[in-house]
Amino acid sequence: MVSFRRYWFLMWYFRSPLIAFGEDALSHLDQNICSRAFIVTDAVMRDIGHLQHVIDRLQGSGVVCDSFAEVEPDPGVEIVQRCAARMQEFAPDWVIGLGGGSCLDAAKAAWFLYERPDVDLAAVTPFETFGLRNKARFVTIPTTAGSGAEVTAAAVITDIEKIRKMEVASFELIPDVSVVDPWFSSQLSPRLTADTGIDAMTHAVEGFTSTFANDFSDALCLHAARLVFEYLPRAYHKGMHDPEAREKMSNAATMAALGMGNSHIALAHAMGHSAGTVFGLPHGRLTGMFLPYAIEFTAKGGAGRYLELAHGLGWAADDEAQAANMIVLALRNLLREVEQPLSLKEAGISKEDFAANLDSLCDRMEMDSALATGRRFPYREQSMHLFEYAYEGKSIDF
Ligand SMILES: [Zn+2]
Repeated sequence: MVSFRRYWFLMWYFRSPLIAFGEDALSHLDQNICSRAFIVTDAVMRDIGHLQHVIDRLQGSGVVCDSFAEVEPDPGVEIVQRCAARMQEFAPDWVIGLGGGSCLDAAKAAWFLYERPDVDLAAVTPFETFGLRNKARFVTIPTTAGSGAEVTAAAVITDIEKIRKMEVASFELIPDVSVVDPWFSSQLSPRLTADTGIDAMTHAVEGFTSTFANDFSDALCLHAARLVFEYLPRAYHKGMHDPEAREKMSNAATMAALGMGNSHIALAHAMGHSAGTVFGLPHGRLTGMFLPYAIEFTAKGGAGRYLELAHGLGWAADDEAQAANMIVLALRNLLREVEQPLSLKEAGISKEDFAANLDSLCDRMEMDSALATGRRFPYREQSMHLFEYAYEGKSIDF
């Protein structure tokens, strides 16, 4: 018998929610699949009418609704606990997260506590079984095109007491259904379109180059990267007047997250998480800004998959170094096109603020789980140089 063992990837799984996508994907809610829905969102979603839009749809098919519209950016444990307490009172059979990444993360974590009030969120790991779904199914409705939280297994929650971000991760947190209706993201401002859209690109590139990449994640990440290169500038410049670009960006963001969620992320996210905690800038703006530096650093170590990525994008490159240069150039052009900062200095961080926080930036980055699946690990001196180069906007030469 022929053994294929040495050619095979170790046995693994591909995980995904049921995804309703395309024009009026929200009509999935008409199918009478629940009786009591609890919607977790924020004040912006309530004030611009998105919450009522979803409630009307649900009530139209006889669903009893309640909502919690108090999620804040980078939600803390206290908000999640308050939301879960409201859920316990209402006793829904569907929990719906509606909004950007913060709302979906808060909804995931609150739903977890609704199911398992006996478990401390800080103790949740992907290595345990929690028996979720005894009380409710979990549904996400993303209103941005980028975070990808609508399909992933993790929620980032801020532990205010310890001033840190904790990743609540369990494969059971992957939503049952994700409703990816481009109508919501067509309402986004250009700035939010760019901040979130460039995060989708970072998920696509890091998902493709992570050491956990596999055939399934490759296909999703590659096509998502193609879509973002083509449609993000159109979505940014034309807004709601280009529904095709909005739809493609919605699909690209969900596909990139599905690819990344089934492989993992890497250095640009480790740097972005760290700088996000220290400087409070939006996640996507930072990860997108750091991505070219992360690629340069990884390629300098001869460790990337950039030739495969460039060829997959249809670009002629002869070797890893040339491919990495082409990708970095294309990414920096895209960042310019959608008026994103290319350096921490351009992002508005003062020299003094940067210098005072450099050690903290390195400490936080080196502790980030995203580094574990990168292809080149920076030593302390390199970590400092990475941030210094990214501050000044210098290409990585080490
Ligand atoms: Zn991200």
